[in-house]
This record gives sequence, C-alpha cells and structure tokens, in this order.
Amino acid sequence: MNEVIEFFQQLANVNDWPPRWYCGRWTDFHGWLYIVSDLTIWLAYMAIPLILIRFILVKKGVPLSGVFVLFGAFILLCGLTHLLDAIMFWWPAYRINALIRFCTAMVSIATVLALIRYFDEAVGLRTSKEYDRELSFRQQAMQELTRSNEELQQFAYIASHDLQSPLKTIVNYLTLLESKHGEKLDTDAVRLINVSTAAAERMRVLINDLLDFSRVGTDIDFQTVDLNEVLAEILEEHQTEIRSTGASVDVGPLPTIRAHRTDLKQVFQNLVTNGLKYRRADVVPHIRIRATDEGSQYRFTVSDNGIGIDSKYYDRVFQIFQRLHGRNEYPGTGIGLATCKKVIDIYGGQIGLNSTVGVGSTFYVVIPKVIKTSQHYAQTHSLYPVN
Ligand code: ADP
Repeated sequence: MNEVIEFFQQLANVNDWPPRWYCGRWTDFHGWLYIVSDLTIWLAYMAIPLILIRFILVKKGVPLSGVFVLFGAFILLCGLTHLLDAIMFWWPAYRINALIRFCTAMVSIATVLALIRYFDEAVGLRTSKEYDRELSFRQQAMQELTRSNEELQQFAYIASHDLQSPLKTIVNYLTLLESKHGEKLDTDAVRLINVSTAAAERMRVLINDLLDFSRVGTDIDFQTVDLNEVLAEILEEHQTEIRSTGASVDVGPLPTIRAHRTDLKQVFQNLVTNGLKYRRADVVPHIRIRATDEGSQYRFTVSDNGIGIDSKYYDRVFQIFQRLHGRNEYPGTGIGLATCKKVIDIYGGQIGLNSTVGVGSTFYVVIPKVIKTSQHYAQTHSLYPVN
C-alpha cells in the first residue's frame, strides 16, 4: 500500500532514473530512429480518434457509436504511450508512463469486451452493397406491383366497358318491345318490362361506378387543380337535387393542388352527393365544406346534418359494395366512398369520418401538398419525393 501511495506522490518525479539517452548505449541514428518513429506513431494515433469523432458527429445515428468511442480512446492512449517513450529520452517519467499504460490496458480490455459483445450485432449490420441490393430489389418489387396493379385496373376497366354495350342492347330492345307491342301486352307484361328496365338502369349505374373506381388514381399526369372551381362545377351539376331538397351548400375558400382533376372531383362529388342523399326526412340538408392548411398537408371537411353513421361502421363504409341501407331506402351502389378511399390512399393521404346518428356526419380528407404516388416512385426510380 505504501508503494502505491509513494507512486502517486512521486508521479511526476523523474530523479530516480537517468534520461533514456544515458541509459545503455545509443547512437544518434538509433536514438532518433526510435524518437521519430514514436512521434510519427503518436501523430497518427492522435489523428485516428479525431477522424472517428468527426465521423460520429457528421454521420448522425451511426450504429454502435459506443464501440467507436471506446476504440477512439484506446487508440488515443496507445498514442500517448508512444509520445512518452519519445519524451523519456530527455524526461524519464517512468511513473506517468506506467499510469498511462495501465489506463491503456483497461480501455483495451473494455474495447475487446465491447467488440465481443457487439460482434453479432455488427455482423448483422448491412453494408452499403447489401443496402443497394435491397434497394434495387424493393424498387423492382414496386415496379412489378405497379405493373400488376395497372393490369388489374385495365382488366376492370375493359370488363366494365365491354359490359356497357350488351346492356345498352337490352335496354334498347326492352324500350322497343314496349313501344311496338305495348297495346298487345297485358299489365303484368308491362310491369315485367318496367322491372327489367329499372334493373338494367341499376346495372348501368353500377358499371359506371365500377368504371370510375377502376379509373381513379391511375393517371399520374398531374395538373394544377383549383378546388373552388371543382366544387362550383359539382354544385352546378347537382342543381336539380339541391333545388328539389332546398339544400344549402356552404363552401369555404379552398386551395389549389397539383393532382389529377377527375380524381379530386370524384372524391368531393361523392362526399357532397352523399350529404344530399343521406338526409333526414323533413330536415333541410345543410352541407359545409372547409379546408385547413396544416403545413405539409391540407385537411378538408365535408359536414352534413343528415342521418349520421354509427361509429361501428366507420371503417365498413369505405369498403367496396358495403352499404348500410337497403336499395329501397336510399339508392346507391356502395362504390362511392371506396372510390374516395382509393384516390386518397394512392395520394398518400387519409380519409375518415366522425358522426352522430340522427345529427349528421363530418367526413375528413387529408391530402399532402406534394402528392407523390407509388407509381411516381416506380417511374422515377427515386425513393425520395421530388418537389
Ligand atoms: P352508396 O352511397 O352508393 O351506397 P357509398 O360508398 O357512397 O355508397 O357509401 C357507403 C354507405 O355509407 C352508404 O350506403 C351509406 O349507408 C353510408 N353513408 C355514406 N355517406 C353517408 C352520409 N353522409 N351520411 C350517412 N350515411 C352515409
């Protein structure tokens, strides 16, 4: 114990040993070779931790940065031992040298333990080559997904389109049958013709809705869309309904977005017409459309004072063909909100609703200011949105 106390008391005392130049026989060449080599090693060992520190600071979030710090300290201490070895040719600080060596030993053990402990984790880290491979694999998968999606949409489009022509023939022949042979037909036959015509009309609406559904979100050729104009157009097209119900539609100032005009029109048209359709008996419909700027996105709300929706159906109404009401109560195909969701999903936004049964519903739509669909990503080969 006394030796330890004496060691620390005499830490900087160098009188017990001769400087290294006088310890044994050194030629100038031998001594300076030793000194210059030690100083060079020390300089290099100083530079390595500095580079490591800069690396950790610049490249934030470096994995296993603790190991980097330990490794840096280890190199720094190794460097110090070399510096002291050179200095000891004039200043024989054997105690300080021993202390630094002790510290180096401790840090080196800690570094070894850390390396063993994090070895598996380090092996698990992906190299930039592995990242590149994964990235190109993902891009390829995205392109394939986009292609198969396009094919599916094309199939739905062609199928619905081709169904229109035989349907038109059926309607034409039913009309012809009634007009040509109407007098010869009894009331039951006329009723059957009317039922068939009504069914054909429902099918026409269904095919058109399906066509819209398969079409939306497919065109990524965006243009600047003034939503004030879009809403004015929708209201103009639904004047008859608005007048007959005495509805009031209050539209707040709306922004201009770069998107596909028909897609956006589909979304707002479905929400507004639903607000008119799902009104309460004897209550004049009131629809309110508002937009809020939320920085990187716009939040739109379409509120009505209609029949409302039970919260347990909030998700279901956005699924295709899901209707909460019978056809006789409210006509419809159950495709409108699914179409809205498809567009908003493709645009990377959100759609949802809040409602109170018997009071009304508020549908909200969140759309990013810069819309970048997966098709854009697949086309540009870039994973980062370009403004
Ligand atoms: P559709 O109106 O053709 O039935 P939608 O997909 O537009 O199809 O709507 C799905 C269902 O959600 C509707 O059948 C209706 O029950 C309910 N719904 C939609 N909008 C409203 C609304 N504003 N108020 C009350 N119920 C609604």
